[in-house]
Amino acid sequence: MDKKFYITTAIDYANGSPHIGHSLEKIQADVLARYARAKGQKVFFLTGTDEHGTKIQKTAFQKNITPKKLVDTNSKEFKNLKKILNLSWDKFIRTTDSKNHWPGVFKIWDQMEKSGDIYKRTYRGLYCSGCESFKTGADLVDGKCPLHDKEPELVEENNYFFRLSAYSKILKKKIEDKEIEIIPQWRANEILSLIENGLEDVSFSRPKEKLSWGIPVPGDDSQVIYVWADALTNYISAIGYGRDEKEFEKWWPADVQVIGKDILRFHAAIWPAMLISAKLPLPKKIFVHGFINVQGQKMSKSVGNIISPNEIFEKYGSDSLRYYFLKEISPFEDGSYSEEKFIDRHNSDLAHGLGNFSARVVGMASKFPNSIRNDFKSIDLGLEQRIKTVQKNVDDYLDQFKFNDALSEIWSLISFGDSYVNEKKPWSSDIPDVEKEKILFNLLVLLNSVGVMLAPFLPESSKKITKNISIKGKYVQLKPIPKLFELIDNGII
Ligand SMILES: [Zn+2]
Repeated sequence: MDKKFYITTAIDYANGSPHIGHSLEKIQADVLARYARAKGQKVFFLTGTDEHGTKIQKTAFQKNITPKKLVDTNSKEFKNLKKILNLSWDKFIRTTDSKNHWPGVFKIWDQMEKSGDIYKRTYRGLYCSGCESFKTGADLVDGKCPLHDKEPELVEENNYFFRLSAYSKILKKKIEDKEIEIIPQWRANEILSLIENGLEDVSFSRPKEKLSWGIPVPGDDSQVIYVWADALTNYISAIGYGRDEKEFEKWWPADVQVIGKDILRFHAAIWPAMLISAKLPLPKKIFVHGFINVQGQKMSKSVGNIISPNEIFEKYGSDSLRYYFLKEISPFEDGSYSEEKFIDRHNSDLAHGLGNFSARVVGMASKFPNSIRNDFKSIDLGLEQRIKTVQKNVDDYLDQFKFNDALSEIWSLISFGDSYVNEKKPWSSDIPDVEKEKILFNLLVLLNSVGVMLAPFLPESSKKITKNISIKGKYVQLKPIPKLFELIDNGII
C-alpha cells in the first residue's frame, strides 16, 4: 500500500450555484479520502472551482457585475458544500488564484512549448459557446451540439494549438496497459475507440478580444489561455507545481481522479497528453461516474427541476444526503433523484434500520453495564466471523468503487444483529444476567463494528454510535480494527 493518497474531484464551473448533481462526485471522493485516512495513508483531497471563460464573462455582463464578483459569490457556495456534505477536503483551488494556480499554468505551458507541442495557426471551426469548445463533425447530431441542442457558430481566429494528434498511439498504449486505469472498463473502451478514430490537435488559446477573462499566454499578450491548460492544470498547481516542487513531488501523481462522464475525453486524452508532453507522470486511476437526473429528466433551469443540496441538508442533515447518493445511485451509471425515494431511504434505512438497532442495543446494554466490560473471550465465533467477512467485503467493494454494495454489506450486518437479538432474547427472564451480559457484549461489538465501518460513508452516524458505546466504559475492541478507534477518537475520521 502506498503511503500517500492524492485524490481530486473535477473543479466545478463557477457560473452558477451548486445543485445536487455536483454533490455525488464530492461525496464519492470524500468516502475514498476518509477510507484512505482510516487505513493510515497520508491523504491530500483536492476540490475547487473553474472560474475563467466566456460563459462567466457573459453571465457577469448580464448581471451587470464584474466576472470577479460573480466567481467570488459562486465559488463561496461551492466551498460551503464542505459543511453541507460533510466533506474532508484539504484544499479548495480556484483558477483565478494568481498566487497558487497561475504559476503551474505558466510552467506547464512552457514545458509543452519546449516539447514542441504548442504552435500557432489560423483556425476555422465550429464553436459551441455552451461547451466553450470547437466541435468536429463527429461531435454533432443533426448539425447541433447534442449537449446544448444548438448549432455551433463558424469561427475563424488565430490560436495556439496543442499537438494532441501526436499522442494517439502512446495514449492508447497507456490506457490499454492500465498505466492509467479508467474505471469502469467500458468507459476505457469508449475512450479507446475515440482515440482509434484519431485525435485532432486542440485549441489551447483564444484571442484576447474574444476571451478576456482568463490567464494570458506567456509571452503573447494578445492571447488568453483557453480552458484546458488552465482548468486541467489545477490538479498539479494546487499541490505546488510551478511554485513548490518539493510539495508537488510529494503528492503527484494522483492516485484517483474522480470525474463525470461528460469530461472523460478531456481527462483521459487531453490531460494525460499534456502531462506526457510536460514530462510528468500520469494519474493512476480515473474513476468516472454518471449523471443525476430528477424524475428521469436532466436537471436544467428551463425545466425548473434544479434541486439544491442546501434544502435537503436543512431538513435531513449531511449523512442522509451522503447515504442516498452512495446507496441509491449506481457508482457508474446515471442515477435518479426523487424526494419520495429520498425520504423513504432516510426513514427505512437510517432512522429505522440503523437508528433503531443502535438505540435498541445501547438501551439494553445500559441496563447491564457489565456487558461492556466483558472479556473478548465471550465473543460468539459465528458473529465475529460475520463481522470479519463483512469488513473484508467492504474493503473489496471500496477498492472497486462500489459504494452501494459496500453499504449493502454493512446493512447486512445490521440485519444479522437484529436477528441475533430476536434469537437470543436478552430481555427474557429465563436467561441469567451473566448470559445476558455476554449476549449484549456481542451486540455491542457488532454495533461498534458497524459504527467503525460506516466512518468513511456516514461520519456523523459513525461518531454517534461509537461515542454511545464508549461512554459506558472502555471501547470494545475487535482485533482487526482497533486502529480505527484511535482515528475516530482523534477526530481524524
Ligand atoms: Zn455545446
